Amino acid sequence: MTENRTEEILRTLRNAFTLPKWITSDRDPFKTLITTIISQNTADRNTARAIENLSKHYPITPEALANAETSRIEQSLKVAGLYRNKSKAIKKVSKIILEKFHGDLNSVLSLPLEEAREALLQLPGVGPKTADVVLLFCADKPTIPVDTHVNRVSKRLGLAPNDGDYETVRKSLQSLYNPKDYLTIHVVLILLGRKYCKAGKPLCRECPVNMLCPSKLLE
Ligand code: SF4
Repeated sequence: MTENRTEEILRTLRNAFTLPKWITSDRDPFKTLITTIISQNTADRNTARAIENLSKHYPITPEALANAETSRIEQSLKVAGLYRNKSKAIKKVSKIILEKFHGDLNSVLSLPLEEAREALLQLPGVGPKTADVVLLFCADKPTIPVDTHVNRVSKRLGLAPNDGDYETVRKSLQSLYNPKDYLTIHVVLILLGRKYCKAGKPLCRECPVNMLCPSKLLE
C-alpha cells in the first residue's frame, strides 16, 4: 500500500461523485443520533420514512421523545424494522440526555474525542458507528464511521485488512488519510458501495477505481 494509491483512490472518487450538500451543513447532534439509531440495519429510504413519520407526531428533541408514547414511536418506526428495540432505545436515550446533559449533547461533543466517544457509547442504542457519525458530522471530530458499505468497500480496495473488525477498519482508514479528508473518504466509500461496489455482485467494469483495486472482477 503506497501513499500514492490511497491518495489516488480519494482523488478519483472525489471526481467521480458529487458530494451531497448536507454533509457540510450544521447538523443537530440529537437528531443525527436518533436518525442513526433508526438507520441500524435499515435502508436509507426506510430510515427517512421513519423519521418523517416520527416528526409528524413529535419534534425530534430529547424532551418530546422522552415523554412520547411508546406505541406512537413504535408505529412511526415500523417501516424501519427492529422497531420495538429502536423505540425503547430512543425513549431511554432521550431521557438520559434530558436528565444527564440538560437536553443538550453539545456538552458531550465539546469534550476531547476519546472522552466524548466514551460518553456517547454509554448511551443505550449507541454503538461505535452511531457515536462516530455524531462525532464526525456534528462536531468535526477526527474519526471515520464504518458502516456496512465502508467496511466492505475498504476491504475490497485493500484499505483495511479483510478480517478486520470495526475498530481495525476505522483505525486502518484513519492511518491512511489526513484527518481533513475523513468526512470525504467516509462519504465517497458509501457512494461507491451503493453505486458500484455492491454487496452481491460488484460492478467492477464500470467502477471508477477499478485500476486501483486489487479485488476487481473484470469478467
Ligand atoms: S473494482 Fe470492483 S471490487 Fe474493486 S472497488 Fe470497484 S466495484 Fe469494488
